[in-house]
Amino acid sequence: MTTSLDATHDPTLRSWVDSANAENTDFPVQNLPFGRFTAPSVAAHDTAGTPRMGIAIGDQVLDLQMVQHALLTNGSPAWALTPDTARPDTLPDWLAPLADGDLNAFMRLGAAVRRGLRAWLSAALAEGSPLQAVLQPCLRAQADCTMQLPCQIGDYTDFYTGIHHATSVGKLFRPDNPLLPNYKWVPIGYHGRASSLVVSGTPVRRPLGQLKAPTAETPTLGPCQRLDYELELGALIGTGNALGTRVPLAQAEDHLFGLVLLNDWSARDVQAWEYQPLGPFLAKNFASTVSPWVVTMEALAPFRTAFNRPAIEGGDAGTLPYLDGDDNRLSGAFDLTLEVELQTAAMRAAGLPPQRLSRGRWTEAAWWTLAQLVTHHTVGGCNLQPGDLLGTGTLSGPGPDQAGSLLELSGGGKSPLTLPGGETRTFLQDGDTLTLRAWGEKPGARRIGLGTCSGTVQPAA
Ligand code: CA
Repeated sequence: MTTSLDATHDPTLRSWVDSANAENTDFPVQNLPFGRFTAPSVAAHDTAGTPRMGIAIGDQVLDLQMVQHALLTNGSPAWALTPDTARPDTLPDWLAPLADGDLNAFMRLGAAVRRGLRAWLSAALAEGSPLQAVLQPCLRAQADCTMQLPCQIGDYTDFYTGIHHATSVGKLFRPDNPLLPNYKWVPIGYHGRASSLVVSGTPVRRPLGQLKAPTAETPTLGPCQRLDYELELGALIGTGNALGTRVPLAQAEDHLFGLVLLNDWSARDVQAWEYQPLGPFLAKNFASTVSPWVVTMEALAPFRTAFNRPAIEGGDAGTLPYLDGDDNRLSGAFDLTLEVELQTAAMRAAGLPPQRLSRGRWTEAAWWTLAQLVTHHTVGGCNLQPGDLLGTGTLSGPGPDQAGSLLELSGGGKSPLTLPGGETRTFLQDGDTLTLRAWGEKPGARRIGLGTCSGTVQPAA
């Protein structure tokens, strides 16, 4: 694997942006995630409403369009913070696509440029940086920024790597045969719908669909009655592969840009009626919510860990050679904590804080690594492109309070959850706000987070 620890991961590194030094911030100077946003114009050269890329730092955003402008107008040797890579003559080329809000074009430049810019940003935002005075005016409060999807997502594939989720859901849909025999051998997935991906904060309308109760003779069209969420991570592809080529496992991570949170909203009643024989369709295509900040593979490096498959009934039967390798076994996983919170409209009105529904760890959920997903996706010659999104599938841990969907937490709707204020839930009601979080935390490393991925359910149209 290609990311190793360097000076940008030093846990003692502090930023001249005060809020980045707060103990529990998701965005210390060790993180430096990319997000796309619009914000009110603050300078004559700044066209109001034009999307551009920024870097989250504490509760601020470093506006890379403003950085590019400052560099082109005030460029001096002081910008050469990292002389081996980012120099005043290379930085403008790196920043140009980001200033234009085109993360896909930056992704195309490859991992080496991404690492070079990370080194430069780390030095530029670190305490004592000679650029503090020139970069200070390029900061905006995150509260003033309207976040968008971080890039143009051309294609979206959703996998099913959470083996506890697959087993629990399988038991509900097929009590005699919960885990189908292919599961342990092939990374199961389907091609999703990129057009209905929305950024965190976008309201999610309850979908209509065909519903058929088991006892009914015929289906009806109506609002989904079993609306659910799915706790997932999404990997964004950085550099693609040509049609007809495949990406070997040892090179798979070179094609990954970074991670986002992903809520794959699911209409369980629609799903149960429509899913055979071709799998999910309208149950999944009305909205999927993506978090706005892309945490790069480099930022995640301190949280790398050995890949050990979860213990599961029947054990691990093995892995085909194209999906197996030493690096993948030794360091192919990332130890992130995953959490889900729910706040109902009544809780909001009563001033009650969100209620945690689950907390678990990615390492205890996933049967496949990200690298294996890339390699499998391309083994038949399918071309991945910059900005493509690969969802992990629902990441449920082994425990009952680690499940990443209400379908599991409520035992298929049979065991309602009780919420603060006395309400109960089996599935989501109108007005419910669902929020996903993920973070890495361990001794010897600075804690980093992925921010939040949130959506509120609106009544059916
Ligand atoms: Ca899913």
